[in-house]
Order: sequence, then structure tokens, then C-alpha cells
Amino acid sequence: MTLTEKILARASGKTHVRPGDNVWVNVDVLMTHDVCGPGTIGVFKREFGANAKIWDRKKVVIIPDHYIFTADAMSNRNVDILRDFANEQGIEYFYDVIDDPKGHWRFDAAKGNGQRQHGSHYSGVCHSSLALKGHNRPGEILFGTDSHTCQSGAFNQFATGIGNTDAGFILGTGKLLIKVPETMRFFFEGALPKGLMAKDVILHLIGEIGFDGATYRAMQFEGPGVASLTMDDRMTITNMAIEAGGKNGIFPCDQTTLDYVNARTAENGTKNTFTPADIDADQSFIYDKTFDISALEPTVACHPDPGQRKLAKEMGHVALDRAYIGSCTGGKTSDFLAFAEIVRGKTVKIDTFGVPSTTRVLEELKATQWDGKSVWNILADAGVRLTENPGCAACLGGPVDTFGRMNAPLKCISATNRNFPGRMGHKESQVFLASPYTVAASALTGKITDPREFI
Ligand code: SF4
Repeated sequence: MTLTEKILARASGKTHVRPGDNVWVNVDVLMTHDVCGPGTIGVFKREFGANAKIWDRKKVVIIPDHYIFTADAMSNRNVDILRDFANEQGIEYFYDVIDDPKGHWRFDAAKGNGQRQHGSHYSGVCHSSLALKGHNRPGEILFGTDSHTCQSGAFNQFATGIGNTDAGFILGTGKLLIKVPETMRFFFEGALPKGLMAKDVILHLIGEIGFDGATYRAMQFEGPGVASLTMDDRMTITNMAIEAGGKNGIFPCDQTTLDYVNARTAENGTKNTFTPADIDADQSFIYDKTFDISALEPTVACHPDPGQRKLAKEMGHVALDRAYIGSCTGGKTSDFLAFAEIVRGKTVKIDTFGVPSTTRVLEELKATQWDGKSVWNILADAGVRLTENPGCAACLGGPVDTFGRMNAPLKCISATNRNFPGRMGHKESQVFLASPYTVAASALTGKITDPREFI
């Protein structure tokens, strides 16, 4: 069996499953956020009763992150609904934007959307927070009401996005019926050369198979090339499995995985027992191809979908209005450090926005010193507009006052993961997806630029 089949077999109490089988799986973690949480809670209460209790208060993780730092009252109300539900159900893992469990967050215009407007419990983008707070464990089943839930597959977890109806059902039962997907194998050889990032790998793969090339399939990443990839790299790759239509993305578990997971579960006191799924000799795939990742070049996904692959060096004719670094895919500390490497000591030529994915990233950027100056200040001095309010921000547009939102038909190069029309705001804007290195180099020149020119 493939990694996905092994995990689904185990979670459904079977010795063997095949693609196409429908199986009931026991859920280890259910994650929801402020956009889908209220709807999920509504389904749960309607189907199980107003006074019903959720199946396991330690297995539900609620992470407000999408429409948070806005004056939009309906968005604020969504977070209030999550807070009320977390209090009512005694949910242990609720990363609220304020510290007072009886309070209400409201936008402080005096601080604007650049200065910190969150309490100490807040974490930031849901997928990054699941990893950081010790909710990603090898061999487990994680569902989330968000399409990029597939990111958690970096940890050898079966992780996929679901709708509010399924999530409401899980709240009441802890189970879900799921069809076992076919598996596509992407076998990595080599190691990333200087100037290349994991983002280039996944943009290359999506370009190879198309933005629907993995529809309802598992994307399994393995081979000797995996060893050189950090957990941040692996998260970037699995995060975008859905951009090829994938049901999930998954890596094997190795010492890099175990070191990361053991450190995060110990730090947060989360469950620390798990059984990884290892690679079988008798796997069978619907697609199987080897990629030498050392031979890749900086890659861009052009408007209007993530499958529109081009090389950055061929795109110098595209003039840009904006650059953006942030999100679960491109807002990690390692992403910002790569970006800062390029812009350090220089000045960006176009409007450039930076949104840390989590409060931990914010802290690390302020604490990391290069020649006596924090990386945060290096970025600010280069002209990058930064916010102390981590979250999804303009990655998916959001309310009109969202930091970095495209409120006009602009052309933006972005370290985010999705570029369908209107994704980052204005429906006539255009988004070009690229690595943090490429976004940084392009911010300096005002046109799409191969970052190796600056390395
Ligand atoms: S950062 Fe973007 S892709 Fe990630 S969860 Fe938020 S909206 Fe979705």
C-alpha cells in the first residue's frame, strides 16, 4: 500500500484498502477557522442538538486567522462565535486573538493594521499554527475546513480539506466516510541548488501535470532528494497539492520529521504518541515520475491559475505594481530570511507587503540579528511594509481594509499559493506565484526577475 492507503487502512480498522474503497475513518484532529467555523458549528447544532457535546474536546483545534484584523463587523462576529463555542464546549486548543475569554476583539484605528492588535494566545495562519503548536503527528488523520489543510501531509499525516457539513458531522461523531484516492508518486533526486526554493519545486510539478492534474489523488513525495528538504520546504510542497487538485500531499517520516514533531509536542504539551506510516515495497501508483530537483530553475506560475508555469528568467517583460510575501506557503521565518537575503541593503522599487504567518515568525524576525540589525528592521529599511498582525491578510483578498489587499487591477508577484482571478482582491488584478527569493528580486527591479541575478 502507498502511504495514504496505509494510514486510511489503519484509521478504518482494516488490514488493506484499495483506491476507490469507501471507508469510515476515525479522526485524530479536526481544525476549523473563523471563515468556516461558524457554519460548521451551525451544522453541528442543527444535526446533534443545541446542547450537544462534541466528540472529543482535545481533538478539535480552532484557529482564527482569516478575516481578523479588520473593522468589518460581520468578520469580527465570526470570531465571537468561535469564542462562545470554545467556552461552551471546553475546547482546549483555541488560539484566540484576545486573552479575555469573555471579551470581544474590535479594530483599533489608532494602531492601524500595522501595529500589534492581538493578545498572547493568538497564533496566526491555521496550517502554520497546527505545525507550530504540536498538532501535526505522523501516521494520523487530520481534517480541516480549509483547502490547504493538505499542508499537514509534510508530517506523514493524512490531511485534507473538507466542507462545513462533513466537519459538523465529525464534531458530533469523530468519524468520516472517505473514498481512498489513487496515488501519484513524485520521486525526488538531487538537492536544491542556491537560488532555488521548495516553492520552485511545487510550481514545477503543478506546471507538469496541470492545475487539475492530481484531482482526487494523493501526491506522494519520496526519493533520496527528500532528505535535503527541511520541514519548512516539505510544508511548502504539500501545501500546494490542492493547487493541482490533489486530495492530499504526503511525505515519508524521517529523522527530520521526528525531530520537528517531538520538539513541538514537548513545547506545547500536546499528544506525543504516534505511529508513522513507512514505505512499503509493494506500492502501486497511477503515475510515477522522477524529478532531479538540482536541475530546476526559478519558476513562476502566471495569471490566471497555478498551472501556468514559466521560468522567471523568461518573464522579464512583465512589469509589476506590487510584491507580497506571506501566507502559510510563503510566510515562514525561512521564507522571510530568504527574502531578506536579497533585499538587504537595497530598496524595493514597487509597493511591497510582508505578513508573517504566525506570531512566532514575527518574534523570530525581530530577534534575528544580522550585523547588529534585526531582520525585521532590515526589511523595513528596504522599504517593505510590514505588519505585526500575522494571519492570512491579503492572501485571499478579505474585507476591503485588509493589509496588502489589491483594491485595484494591479499586477502582483506573490509568495502565496493561489492566483485564480480575484484571489487577492480586485477581480481584474493579476497574481504571479513565485518563491520568496524570486518575489524579493522582482520587488527590487519592478519586473519579474530571476533571483540568481542577486545571489
Ligand atoms: S494564508 Fe492563504 S492559503 Fe493559507 S490558510 Fe490563509 S488564506 Fe488560506
